[in-house]
Amino acid sequence: METYLNVKGSKNNTYVISVFKDDEDSFFDCDCPAANFSAGQLCKHRLALLNGDFSKIINADDEEIALVKEFIASANIQNELEEINKIQSEFDRLQAEEKKLKSLLGQRKRDLLSKFYPSYDEEYDDIQK
Ligand SMILES: [Zn+2]
Repeated sequence: METYLNVKGSKNNTYVISVFKDDEDSFFDCDCPAANFSAGQLCKHRLALLNGDFSKIINADDEEIALVKEFIASANIQNELEEINKIQSEFDRLQAEEKKLKSLLGQRKRDLLSKFYPSYDEEYDDIQK
């Protein structure tokens, strides 16, 4: 069996995820740039599907969804998926932490600048407007 799912990407692009499955093998591909230019890495579209998120799929019927679910169930990748999700949430946490520290340092720099150059505050306010 095989099916092709249209998935809504960012910037209103539509990509096609191909799913092939017989008794012995299964195959799951996407034609988005990330999948094709990042050494065939698992892209976010397939990752979302593997995590059971079908919200970005457009025009799929029940049979197609069932085939994908069958693929996921038979794919023996649960441990890797859990690990990826763990890393992703740690990555998100670190990014938020980095952003917080950068804006703290930005504020500290502005404080120092306005101490040495009292007119700086006004200039900064002008930039912000
Ligand atoms: Zn993709």
